[in-house]
Amino acid sequence: MEEGILIKGYGGFYYVKVGEKIRECSLRGKFRRLKQNFLPGDRVSISLLDEGKGVIEQVLPRTSELRRPPVANVEQVGVTFALKNPDPDFLLLDRILIMVRHHHLLPLIFFNKVDLVEEGRSDQLVRIYQKAGYPVIKCSTKTGEGIDEIRLLLKDKISVFTGPSGAGKSSLLNAVQQGLSLKTGHVSSKIGRGKHTTRHVELLELDLGGLVADTPGFSVLDMPPMLREDLDSFFPEIRAHAGVCRFHSCLHHQEPDCAVKEAVSAGEIDPGRYQRYLLFLQEVIENERRY
Ligand code: GDP
Ligand code: ZN
Repeated sequence: MEEGILIKGYGGFYYVKVGEKIRECSLRGKFRRLKQNFLPGDRVSISLLDEGKGVIEQVLPRTSELRRPPVANVEQVGVTFALKNPDPDFLLLDRILIMVRHHHLLPLIFFNKVDLVEEGRSDQLVRIYQKAGYPVIKCSTKTGEGIDEIRLLLKDKISVFTGPSGAGKSSLLNAVQQGLSLKTGHVSSKIGRGKHTTRHVELLELDLGGLVADTPGFSVLDMPPMLREDLDSFFPEIRAHAGVCRFHSCLHHQEPDCAVKEAVSAGEIDPGRYQRYLLFLQEVIENERRY
């Protein structure tokens, strides 16, 4: 028996990465009876047949399961926003950060197209989001800036990309996996293969190690259900000050002696992030009424 990670299913076969090898596997009949669905990212045990092929015998419990793209055991999400063309929508960015954390995944923030903006501007944004506790990389697929750092963050993890259309997700995906198709020629590795083939999601191997879904995704729906007091846990730099607010259940909105509002005035919390916190707070409160 060997253990590996399913990287794609295609034409009734399942391709399982075991160490450096990719094994073409079929399924034990019991899985068809059980109507077990397999996803790229699934950790499976296989028994070996002749010629290096295998049979999937067992699938291990998933630590996470995304619907869009359908991938199991994703650990982190490369949240990609261009700093220009299109201009970043920070309300959308912060909403995605909440969704990703709500799924217990780690957001990585990739500020792309830094070649199009002044350095002062991109550095300011990096500081704001680093303060929020997330890994932030500024990058450009045109100059190559930041690409090696992104590769290091993706190393040995299962990741997906998300972000608005035009942010540069496909370009980044191509940039981080360059050189790879030479090493693992049997995995069709180039993205942008035409829309008709992309419904087969596949995990791409990075040469440093690590797997990335070839299809970006992560749908942003409504605010996940939560208590109003819990919203600040999705804003780590706000939470960091909340302990000294006068009221334990302070929402950092209209309460007196709010340490968060003081920190905003003192420039320790970015006013934009705080404003968006307040917008989400209204949403959470409206949702509470619905449940
Ligand atoms: P996606 O929709 O997020 O997958 O974005 P694409 O990867 O298709 O990129 C959208 C456009 O932005 C394309 O015309 C790319 O050439 C361009 N682009 C991608 N990355 C960069 C970058 O770092 N700098 C600049 N100036 N343009 C970029
Ligand atoms: Zn407060």
